[in-house]
Amino acid sequence: MYVNVLIETRVKSNDMTFTYHVPDNLDKNLIGKRVLVMFNKRKVEAFVLEYTNPDIKYEIKDIISVIDDNQILNDELISLGKYMSEKYLCPLISCYQAMLPKALKANHKRTSGIKKLVYVKLNDNNVHNDIKIKSQIQIMNLLKDKKEVLKSSISSKSSLKKLIEKNVVIEFKREVYQKIGVENDIKEISLTNDQKLISQKITDNLLKDKVMLLYGVTGSGKTEVYIDVVKKVIKNNNSAIILVPEISLTPQITARFKGVFKDDIAIIHSSLSDSQRYDEYRRILKGEVKVVIGARSAIFAPLKNIGIIIIDEEHSESYKQENNPRYNTLDIAIRRSKTHNCPVILGSATPTIESFARAKKGYYELLMLQKRVNNKPLPKVMIVDMKNEMRKGNSIFSSLLKEEINSCLNKKEQVMLLLNRRGYANYLVCKKCGYTFKCPNCDITLTYHKTSGMLRCHYCGYGTKKLDICPVCKEKSVTNMGIGTEKLEEKIKEEFALAKVVRMDRDTTSKKGAHAKIINDFNDKKYDILIGTQMISKGLNFPNVTLVGVINADQSLNIPNFRSSEMTFSLLDQVIGRSGRADKEGKAIIQTFNPDHYSIICASKHDYLSFFNYEMNLRKKLNYPPYCFITLIKISSKDFNYGINEAKKIGTYLRDNLNNTVVLGPSISNVLKINNNYNFQVILKYKKDEKLYIILSRIIKIYEGNSKIKIDLDFNPINL
Ligand SMILES: [Zn+2]
Ligand SMILES: [Zn+2]
Repeated sequence: MYVNVLIETRVKSNDMTFTYHVPDNLDKNLIGKRVLVMFNKRKVEAFVLEYTNPDIKYEIKDIISVIDDNQILNDELISLGKYMSEKYLCPLISCYQAMLPKALKANHKRTSGIKKLVYVKLNDNNVHNDIKIKSQIQIMNLLKDKKEVLKSSISSKSSLKKLIEKNVVIEFKREVYQKIGVENDIKEISLTNDQKLISQKITDNLLKDKVMLLYGVTGSGKTEVYIDVVKKVIKNNNSAIILVPEISLTPQITARFKGVFKDDIAIIHSSLSDSQRYDEYRRILKGEVKVVIGARSAIFAPLKNIGIIIIDEEHSESYKQENNPRYNTLDIAIRRSKTHNCPVILGSATPTIESFARAKKGYYELLMLQKRVNNKPLPKVMIVDMKNEMRKGNSIFSSLLKEEINSCLNKKEQVMLLLNRRGYANYLVCKKCGYTFKCPNCDITLTYHKTSGMLRCHYCGYGTKKLDICPVCKEKSVTNMGIGTEKLEEKIKEEFALAKVVRMDRDTTSKKGAHAKIINDFNDKKYDILIGTQMISKGLNFPNVTLVGVINADQSLNIPNFRSSEMTFSLLDQVIGRSGRADKEGKAIIQTFNPDHYSIICASKHDYLSFFNYEMNLRKKLNYPPYCFITLIKISSKDFNYGINEAKKIGTYLRDNLNNTVVLGPSISNVLKINNNYNFQVILKYKKDEKLYIILSRIIKIYEGNSKIKIDLDFNPINL
């Protein structure tokens, strides 16, 4: 018997499969398992993809051994990997690696993972009426009663040993799972009439492979609808995948799902340890769970009989993977829904322009929850023009925001403040000579982090001690400019001395469990003010928050990206929605230098539809998605001249060969240099171009194995 295996190797082609012989003494069920093979005189791990019957049989090597007892990639995932590799023109092996937890990836050093414990039970095939010793009888009675127990839990070791020797009791090993601590929150949910209606509409479509967009304003209770639908799916003996965008969201929503579905649920997210992830993956593989909840990669959960796939907060950028395979979670969801004949539910208060356009065109079914639960009003929003405030000398807090924070604190209610930039200062500059501190590896200014006294590069992670003396003019004139969350925290403590403040950003949440702790502590009112980056904008639910302040709404507007208005509207709408979610009325204040910008005005009125119409008009004029597709070709090289020259050749080649595509560039990427690599890009805009894949594949082939340059394709990129 012969099989084709996929090997991760740096030989010329990334995707070569190789044929090996299966010796008679090995397991014959090999598809989807890892095996050890000799390749280029090295022992390497490989995935078995298929059986084969080669013409020439004499030179074929034997498989050395089989690594997995059970299939780790089922047939569906094997075919899904091929689909991804073709769709995104990326190496097949990268697709399989993306699906598996670290502990199961090929060539992963298995230091963590499987933990086996020894159990004992009675040997049913051995009649054992001859036992007379009291301590041995006690053990046997215990085993009769409990069927099986941990060997280590039996105290009289010598008696147990005797019983094992007599073959009356047998030992066996079993893998144990690590339990993940999630608080059980057993709250009965009763749906509002609106929620019931939506739940029913989804239920009516449970056996169809269609996409439904659930557009529900913040606080309309989409989670309750999800739970209700998933209950019905499980009743039909099917399983469910629920995706959430970020880890900051998971503690509260997972707790709710865990409370309802108990042991039927597996939780996959990035803050699990490798072995915990592995354990969850095995529970799913073995069919021990019905519901999987997790971030992006949970879309690959090896569930059988999937009855529904829910993508919550579908507008989140986190659903797009930013390195190979650069997949869009929705593509994978739709592909799996076709395999399983089940619907995909996209949920959001601010759907992407593309999704909403598809729903309006009828490609997706549109479901709407337009009221908050029990008709609670949406927060009252005020826009503050910071140009006027600057004249008054208020650079961080406007008078209105100060006033409202104080009044909120007096009422013992809580405040959330959004500033979408971490660190202390945006950059350091010498007042004398104008020198700015830049990263030596990247073309980017370093961010000052005061707590650690460091200057850090947010692109490559480079760090260096902060200097007070300018390295160029040697004057003691280094000053910091701009504001990050760290400085905001300091300023709040100065301004509101009695308030207890907590900060949530990537710096304060790097430790495991830190996120959940901040969320729980704030929920328990141990703090009055929560400040944070966009991490605080989505999915969080704090009943006592009645004021949300946006320190600088312009930050995301200034990003050079055709989606910047959409991102701004979405961020503002989501964060405003954190205010007044329980019985107290909520308020929000947006500070901006662009008070007339349509995304800010629409967000202040909670008016998604007007924003959508305005944005669609602009996209049409400028020819951006959804009026076309965009593909980005990223070209990077350590050698600037070589990189730009090859980028020009690629641009010319594309222009010469594609007739129905607009080719833009090459141009310099947003950041020219990252990690000592110079970055260039060519942008393709098209509606339909049959030659596109052929031409792009040719380009990939030409540069394959060229170590001086890296070519990456990004279909529907988030960042341009
Ligand atoms: Zn200087
Ligand atoms: Zn850097």
